[in-house]
Amino acid sequence: MSTIIDHPSTDEFVAADMTTYRAAVVHEFHEPLTVEQVPAVPLAAGQVRVRVEATGLCHTDIHAARGDWPVKPSPPFVPGHEGVGIVVELAPDVTEVAVGDRVAMPWLGYACGTCEHCVSGWETLCMEQENMGYSIDGTFGEYAVAFGRYVVKVPESVDPFDAAPLTCAGVTTYKAVKVAGTRSSDLVAVFGVGGLGHLAIQYAAIAGGRVVAIDIHDEKLELARELGAEFTVNAAKEDPIAAIQALGGADQAIALAVAPKAFEQAYGSLKRGGTLVFVALPADNDVTIPIFQTVLNGITIVGSIVGTRNDLREVFELHGAGKTHVIRETRALDDVNAAIADVEAGRVAARIVLEP
Ligand code: NAD
Ligand code: ZN
Ligand code: ZN
Repeated sequence: MSTIIDHPSTDEFVAADMTTYRAAVVHEFHEPLTVEQVPAVPLAAGQVRVRVEATGLCHTDIHAARGDWPVKPSPPFVPGHEGVGIVVELAPDVTEVAVGDRVAMPWLGYACGTCEHCVSGWETLCMEQENMGYSIDGTFGEYAVAFGRYVVKVPESVDPFDAAPLTCAGVTTYKAVKVAGTRSSDLVAVFGVGGLGHLAIQYAAIAGGRVVAIDIHDEKLELARELGAEFTVNAAKEDPIAAIQALGGADQAIALAVAPKAFEQAYGSLKRGGTLVFVALPADNDVTIPIFQTVLNGITIVGSIVGTRNDLREVFELHGAGKTHVIRETRALDDVNAAIADVEAGRVAARIVLEP
């Protein structure tokens, strides 16, 4: 492996002879990740190298490691798309960030910048996009390589360990509430109070909505109330459709639970004219939605995929202003497999942030 330092860098962060670093690698779907030395590749045009300080564990990383979705990543690969760290090296053409900047590395790792989606503020729909921790290596490592144009600077006012969950869970639910069109006094049903859901509750409330939170664990519902949910429903004990219809029905429902049944319950919880936002991506890819009721009740169903760089800047601005709370616990990157097991079992308050 040749030396990687052809470009300006800070010796404080990168030893010039660094040829490998530690990262968590998926070698085979459904096998545990292995934390091992991986080669430090030279930067290509437009790229930056980042020393990772914190990287959130999104449920999407678990789907990636399992090969859950119709479009699969190609092992071996490094997951992680809630990465935050310090830029230590730049390709010569990078102008967007400087060495020493703290940046966030989100799911949208690269987009073309010129297609109809990119120029209309929908870069997240770009057909040329690359995704961190999926189509390109992600942030579950001591270092990560990203595109300077698609990282987002983290303001001084935002703690890097808060910035990590905001980089996917935050921006995704901030965007989902925008897509839902929540306005003051709307009843917003948030299905799933995990990494995404605990932030969705807060963004819905910031938009003026009244929130009903639904989960299958009482501790999650307790947290939901602390974060501003006015009503909660434990779907393991009570029918959420009946409970939410008794409140008058939801103006918007946001499906964040990794279970098709929750999507169907979210649909059933809507009032006439309501909007259902699909966000979660369970391995089981099908739901049953009735045509007749959708037409007669004037229901809107919309998919929402992460958010743009601009959405993430707004998310950081809100957090820096003290408007949101990130509930997270820190674990060592070496404990990534135990962390995954805890997320799947619902044993995590909201988000685990891995420290390389
Ligand atoms: P998470 O595991 O942290 O949270 C899921 C929550 O749903 C948990 O609190 C769990 O207890 C709850 N839940 C499980 N079954 C339920 C049910 N039947 N009813 C109600 N609640 C239930 O996961 P996360 O990181 O918040 O991600 C959620 C989903 O969103 C994943 O599928 C992930 O891949 C997807 N995701 C989508 C986007 C996007 O852009 N659309 C972005 C990020 C994540
Ligand atoms: Zn594009
Ligand atoms: Zn994510």
